Amino acid sequence: MAKLKRLLLWGGILLIGGILMLGAAANEMMSSILGDNQQTNITEDMLNGLPDWITPEMVQGAIDMMHENGYPASVVLGQMILEGGAGGSELSNPPYYNCLGQKSPSYGENGTVTMQTEEAWGTVTAVFSTFASYKDCMLAWAHKFTMPPYVSHVTICPRDPATGHYDADSFIEAIWRAGYATDPNYVQKVINIMTIYNLYQFNNMTAEDLEDQVTGNGQFTHPCPDMTYQSSYFGEIRPYEQGGHKGHDYAAPVGTPTYAADAGTVTIAGWSDSAGNWVVIDHGNGLVTKYMHHSRIVVVAGQSVRKGQKIGEVGSTGQSTGPHLHFQVEQNGIAVNPDYYL
Ligand SMILES: [Zn+2]
Repeated sequence: MAKLKRLLLWGGILLIGGILMLGAAANEMMSSILGDNQQTNITEDMLNGLPDWITPEMVQGAIDMMHENGYPASVVLGQMILEGGAGGSELSNPPYYNCLGQKSPSYGENGTVTMQTEEAWGTVTAVFSTFASYKDCMLAWAHKFTMPPYVSHVTICPRDPATGHYDADSFIEAIWRAGYATDPNYVQKVINIMTIYNLYQFNNMTAEDLEDQVTGNGQFTHPCPDMTYQSSYFGEIRPYEQGGHKGHDYAAPVGTPTYAADAGTVTIAGWSDSAGNWVVIDHGNGLVTKYMHHSRIVVVAGQSVRKGQKIGEVGSTGQSTGPHLHFQVEQNGIAVNPDYYL
């Protein structure tokens, strides 16, 4: 399939958009682009070893498609990797969400965009579909297989009795036999990619697996369940600090994962001299949580997070005497005891 290259006709518009994104409106723009339907529980850890341009939201879209059609998430992801798709290009990113390089017309497209692509015989300008979400992009891919010539080959594929999803290797062979690709080695190529990148792991995910992966005993999930011990409490009076400790400290080895205590929008993911690498999440209704002293942060300002989504790893950056997570809860700007929410 064509490897997508630079934007031709829309380049100028995107350039202006990019400059705007640098401005103060960046947070608002990102949160409006990443609507609630783009939230995901696919964590960065699950994407270890995959090409950089594959995002948790793309994997989530593939799994959502699988839950509707039964077509294995590993096959669509394997094809994306094998063919390069629209990987990392403007077309694959919001607001276009066309991570499969699908040309218009496509099932469920919400618009079109004209871009330059490189085909085997030279450079051509083509009209691609745009989608409202990665799930819609994946559903457009899946729609083909609900119709001739594919449907009769697909429906006889064995299904996993536990999940109801089609067997991935049988599925790729079925659509190849129906004419999806002319390369005689296509089936083996996709199987190799699914094996090398461990894409099969995504086929067994049930809706329950995608629910919050870490749970506490109250409204919030614990932000550091793998801590060694709680080294300090809210309100503790310490000589180097005015007005008492504003949060809880969880001592843990460097690299221990930290999680969003609740769903929300990341408002800060960056550096502070006192808080080190810190993350601030706005949960709405005046409720904000702060996570300090990370060795590493895996979220960016403006993105939506789900409750229990990994946000970083414990460290000792900023004003800190040892590896720990400082977890602070604020209601209308006032630090409150996190125990009210845990
Ligand atoms: Zn602290």
